[in-house]
Amino acid sequence: MTSKDPTKKKVTNLPTRLNIQLELALDVVELFDGARLTQARQLAALTKSALADKIDVSAAAVGQYEAGTIRPRPELVLRLAEVLGVPVRFFAFSAGRPKASLDVSMAHFSSLRSTRAYERERGVAYAAQVWELSHALGERVRLPSIDLPGWVAGEVVPSVPGEPAAAARELRRRWGLGEAAIPHMVRLLESKGIIVTLLPFSEAARVKAFSTARLPRPVVVLTTDRDDVYHLRFAAAHELGHLVMHGEAQPGDIEHEREADAFAAEFLMPSASIMPSLPGRVDFNVYARLQTAWGVSIRALIYRSRELGLLGDMPYRRAWQRLHELQESLVVQPEPIDAYPGEQPVLLKRALEISTKSGVGIEALADRLHFSTEMINFYLGEEVNKLPEVDVSDFLEPGGSPARMGEVRMFSRAPRRRS
Ligand SMILES: [Zn+2]
Repeated sequence: MTSKDPTKKKVTNLPTRLNIQLELALDVVELFDGARLTQARQLAALTKSALADKIDVSAAAVGQYEAGTIRPRPELVLRLAEVLGVPVRFFAFSAGRPKASLDVSMAHFSSLRSTRAYERERGVAYAAQVWELSHALGERVRLPSIDLPGWVAGEVVPSVPGEPAAAARELRRRWGLGEAAIPHMVRLLESKGIIVTLLPFSEAARVKAFSTARLPRPVVVLTTDRDDVYHLRFAAAHELGHLVMHGEAQPGDIEHEREADAFAAEFLMPSASIMPSLPGRVDFNVYARLQTAWGVSIRALIYRSRELGLLGDMPYRRAWQRLHELQESLVVQPEPIDAYPGEQPVLLKRALEISTKSGVGIEALADRLHFSTEMINFYLGEEVNKLPEVDVSDFLEPGGSPARMGEVRMFSRAPRRRS
């Protein structure tokens, strides 16, 4: 960078608002943090060259900004903020500001083949910012302390048995859960100090759930693409399995995935207590009741029956085929997540409510994080968890003609979490 005086001289004749923005950008340039550019670029799901195209520089230049070898000009910082949808101040280094250094290798991803690298990077950048938000909130209110066996400040040194079912039983014992059904999986994780968040991007179906133990607080990222509460609960238990069993993440590792599934099955359906109620032959009437009682899908119950030796090869395959038919005819349907408040993350939202009451609201939090308030709302899932408002104002407009049948939408489903 050249000295800042000439640039300053250059901007004095510009319109005031832009002038102020450029003054701010000048300050930000001095403290420009390349890692923040990486984070914002990944969140916007842009490759370096795609970003370079948008701001009219070379991909190599973007690489250099991110590596910190050169700093962008103030005008370019403004452009970056605009293109990436972050405040100009987002790019400035600040000593006290929470900063999560996380990369894809540190997260338990189920598959590397089904996703593109930039999709996983986006997921990880999202998890990092959600953690940053939780950290800033944790400075204002007391979040639940982390109660995860083997958890030592930002890593897990597994302290449960290596065998997944035994690990699940041990965790149930330590958490005092007995052998009963788990009423609310997401709320349980939050009560143990684990951050749970729902991935709001359209590629969620491919990225699937993932988790990381490499931040000062564990983060579990779930997806709602199937809009099935049973699927969500199983995914939450699966990620919990990774967190207690697998100290080192091995993204896409088949053995880790199998172990996490076995953990989830025993955690949600302990063999000792579910065995007596599982039928010895295929019986969808019983499965449907057990589904409600245990909060697991019929699919999981059939799989569990096979696993516990209650169904042989042939009945198992027939059950699978029959389930497929019942789903096709919509007799068996997914259970919408919206109907289950206990399976929706609330920890950060409630923390913000308390913080706001004590005088530190969303604006102060945004200042602390160099985020916009929109970003905070996005991370809290604000705009998506609220049911859409019923609009009946069309009947109230003076002189308005009565609407015909079918024109008034009395209510609709809450929008799915898609970007
Ligand atoms: Zn997994």
